[in-house]
Amino acid sequence: MRSASGGPRVLLRRLRETMAEQVSAQERLDKIVVLIAANMVAEVCSVYVLRVDNTLELYATEGLNREAVHQTVLNAEEGLVGRVASEATPLNLNDAQNHPAFSFRPETGEEIYHSFLGVPILRAGNTLGVLVVQNRAKRTYVEEELEALQTTAMVLAELIASGELSALAKPGHEPAARHSLHKSGSILSDGIALGHVVLHEPRVVINNYIAEDPVAETGRLDAALTKLRADLDRLLERGDVAEGGEHREVLDAYRMFANDQGWSHKLREAVATGLTAEAAVERVQSDTRARMLRSIDPYLRDRLHDLEDLGHRLMRQLAGQQHAPPREQLPDNTIVIARSMGPAALLDYDPRQLRGLVLEEGTANSHVSIVARALGIPAVGGVPNAPGIADPGDAIIVDGTSGSIYIRPSSEIEAAFAERVRFRAHRRAQYLALRDRPSVTRDGQAVELMINAGLIIDLPHIDDTGSAGIGLFRTELQFMVGLSLPRAADQLALYRSVLDAAGDKPVTFRTLDIGGDKVLPYMETVDEENPALGWRAIRLGLDRPGLLRGQIRALLRAGGGRALRIMFPMISDVAEFDTAKSLVEHELTYLRHHGHALPERISLGSMVEVPALLYQLDELLERVDFISVGSNDLFQFIFAVDRGNPKVASRFDTMSVPILRVLRDIARKARAAGKPVSLCGEMASDTLGALVLIAMGYRSLSLSATALGPVKAMVLELDADKAEAMLTPLLDAPAGSIPIRQRLMEFAEMMQLPL
Ligand code: PEP
Ligand code: MG
Repeated sequence: MRSASGGPRVLLRRLRETMAEQVSAQERLDKIVVLIAANMVAEVCSVYVLRVDNTLELYATEGLNREAVHQTVLNAEEGLVGRVASEATPLNLNDAQNHPAFSFRPETGEEIYHSFLGVPILRAGNTLGVLVVQNRAKRTYVEEELEALQTTAMVLAELIASGELSALAKPGHEPAARHSLHKSGSILSDGIALGHVVLHEPRVVINNYIAEDPVAETGRLDAALTKLRADLDRLLERGDVAEGGEHREVLDAYRMFANDQGWSHKLREAVATGLTAEAAVERVQSDTRARMLRSIDPYLRDRLHDLEDLGHRLMRQLAGQQHAPPREQLPDNTIVIARSMGPAALLDYDPRQLRGLVLEEGTANSHVSIVARALGIPAVGGVPNAPGIADPGDAIIVDGTSGSIYIRPSSEIEAAFAERVRFRAHRRAQYLALRDRPSVTRDGQAVELMINAGLIIDLPHIDDTGSAGIGLFRTELQFMVGLSLPRAADQLALYRSVLDAAGDKPVTFRTLDIGGDKVLPYMETVDEENPALGWRAIRLGLDRPGLLRGQIRALLRAGGGRALRIMFPMISDVAEFDTAKSLVEHELTYLRHHGHALPERISLGSMVEVPALLYQLDELLERVDFISVGSNDLFQFIFAVDRGNPKVASRFDTMSVPILRVLRDIARKARAAGKPVSLCGEMASDTLGALVLIAMGYRSLSLSATALGPVKAMVLELDADKAEAMLTPLLDAPAGSIPIRQRLMEFAEMMQLPL
């Protein structure tokens, strides 16, 4: 089989003419298979399309029995065609019938054809179908023939993705390409949003796949590659790479790929088959992505990301765009899809238009998730190939209550979710009506409900939730969203605005809790084997007192003439609290000396989140003005489960005897010492968690702003004494004998508590 009729370029030109003809979708496909067969001197050319039911249907053929078209349907992994689709790689065989995966379909009449060349029809790494040529003679197709067929498959990918073939399908059997997709991931931020897709890294739209002048096209590709390499060299030489936010190692990896002969060779080869340079980049990237996505090696997957970024850069180079296109014309209900994203990038979107977020990576504890929650937008993470499965402008639903997304949803799904959105809005309105009701249980016990905050955008929630104040202000967020260390003046300005917004309500500022997983892009990183147990929070603050003292000074100045509350994170030894306290005293002396207005009252507290502190509670309580339990960290340390690792994070229940006994002991000891105790971990944001905490004696909780309404609704219906009477025997019984969560649910049901 040699290209008799002018090679791949002539074929591409003919295909372009066919694509432009005013004919039916079936006629177009029929013409295409005839053209390919003739051009490649193949006796058979067939197109199989992947359907929504994950089967492959024969859509057109030249050479096989025509009656088999739309009749032959293969399972996604059945036969050689299924193999090509499921592995997303070509299959080149000189004796197909003796291949173990060969599946005989008598209706096709293919038993007389021995050689087989099948390629996946790919788009953005997704398999849309399979293109096959076959010959009677036993022969192996040469590399150029494979190239030519892959290039042709790209044109078919566009045809399938255009949706034109849907007219040929029976209901339920439509092509998978443009059909509804439901993908599950993990919950990053609660809520439901309906909107339209905006790709954070926009793909360059390719308007022309087929090159007029291949020599000129190779020239364009080479020029863009040279420019790309020069840009990367310049970036690396600039010396301020770290400040620019782009990690030097990543850029090094980019440079390595950009200079990789294999990569540029593949691109050139693709252009040589007659594609435009843009189409060649798309083809090579799609091919690599499809193969690497099936790899389970995390190192390879990381490299894929580097390679994809490089592909984006090259595309922009070809399109003459130095940066991602401007975002002026975002839809009003923008749902951003990204592979991964930092918190600052999310804050760059106009909050009036931003409705939701979908990430390929990201866990609930990642910074971007914290910001998504602060913005009140639903977010779902862990969606494989998220940027590749939707096109800009596609309708999408982000369900942050179950951690799933629906791309191009059916009208029934859309209506069901619209109804849920209305229901949630109604519930929110009910919570709003509770805003000014004092947070007191049925049996008259006041439960202080505060909010957790960390950004300016959180401040309106102090009032609109009717909270008692801010129980945890995570100061590290300001440090994390910027590209450089916030100046003293910026810190002071933020703390002042927070205190101004809170008015008479108390605010507990937690000093920097960075290190571990909360890395600052501009700070030198230390490679640690166990970052959660590493150089973080107060440990880093005490070892780098300049940073901590600067922050304390800004806090003291912001609190001039008012009451100020400062809390230290990750205290593991009372001596650390003493040292931190001495830094505050030192700064107070300094400010007094320089004539600054000082806070009227200063309260110093400690987070209780390291188990060692449980055995120094008496000593700690003597020293502090208040404590706040960080149940997120305490839980991970007590059970030895990494809070960010999905494999183990939900292995143990927060509603279990060991952790509840610990929490009860803390509350009892604090009460006996006459020191206020609060809890500011995620447990307080869960209605059942709040119930059990109140039952154990907690009368102050700090929770996310969205959780305040539901928790307050529960508090108003709760009889705290009855809850305590129910819980005490459960915790005093031998551990493991009683399913605590279940009992709590039964109690809540009996008491008709809204959960
Ligand atoms: C905690 O550990 O529970 C806590 C509130 O702090 P963070 O989640 O910021 O570590
Ligand atoms: Mg913590």
